Amino acid sequence: MSQSNGKPIVEVSNLDVFFNTTQGKLHAIRSANWSVSQGETLVILGESGAGKSVSVHAATGLLPGTAEITGSIKFEGEEILGGSEETLRQLRAEKIGVIFQDPLASLDPCFKVGAQIAEIFTVHRGMSKSEAWAEAVKLLDSVQIPDPERRANQFSHQLSGGQRQRVVIAMAIALSPTLLIADEPTTALDASVQVAVLELIKKLRNERKMAVVLITHNIGVAASIADRIAIMYGGRIVEIGDTKEVLQSPRHPYTQALLASMPKIGAGASKRLVTITGTPPSLATIPGGCAFHPRCTRAIAKCSDVVPEIELNKNGSLHSFACHNPEEAN
Ligand code: SF4
Repeated sequence: MSQSNGKPIVEVSNLDVFFNTTQGKLHAIRSANWSVSQGETLVILGESGAGKSVSVHAATGLLPGTAEITGSIKFEGEEILGGSEETLRQLRAEKIGVIFQDPLASLDPCFKVGAQIAEIFTVHRGMSKSEAWAEAVKLLDSVQIPDPERRANQFSHQLSGGQRQRVVIAMAIALSPTLLIADEPTTALDASVQVAVLELIKKLRNERKMAVVLITHNIGVAASIADRIAIMYGGRIVEIGDTKEVLQSPRHPYTQALLASMPKIGAGASKRLVTITGTPPSLATIPGGCAFHPRCTRAIAKCSDVVPEIELNKNGSLHSFACHNPEEAN
């Protein structure tokens, strides 16, 4: 784990995101508060449709213009919500690197991977073609691609899934961003390759002092890389805190249920996995009160009527949760 004492890179306060759809106005993100600092990894964890990607992409200007966003988003101390499209474009180009789930879709099959990386340096740094190619090869080396000169001359279909994701990571860090967003970066990869890619992200974070926000539905991935974890459900952050506290002493019943549903090494074949009854709501049909109440084994009367607010920094604790009847602290 990194020990971040770095400056805040992103600070999101009271973030709400709406989309106008044919079924009316969809309230996708509700009162989200999170931040990430230099050298730190924040993992946003939750099931599909919980609002993980919308929350992160809203905070970094990556949502379509049709999204309505309210609240405050500060990037390196400057408010960016309501900023011009040109400011956001500059920010995205120079300060934010993004890794998406499917490396094949992120690369152009018609161009050599080296040329795709080199283009970033010719366009944004004004380098000559030969200088940019040399930088591209250097970058492939820094993401631990063996024989980088030869690989730079290949097309994406000639590389393995893990190598392709390393190329995408190289492109994401080419301009030395201060923030790296990794949106399910290992979901499309084999288990053994997943570990190597997570180790690479950690190494690059430490070397380059980047802030990393990683989005995943996989608790194992979160546990292996996160300094802090934010659990999302139904468009809200329901629990947030240091990785150890959240995973070893979860207070929100949803976090508790997610952990109980994970297979454990040495638990024995007869140990049945706990399942969470029901299915997660879509962002268009979020139940009133606590969104988790139809599936919660600890629900009490007011859970179906009153939204539990997350109490941030209560008694100075950085471990916060939103629940009327939380689990006992360990
Ligand atoms: Fe369960 Fe109620 Fe807590 Fe929601 S607020 S997680 S329904 S106990």
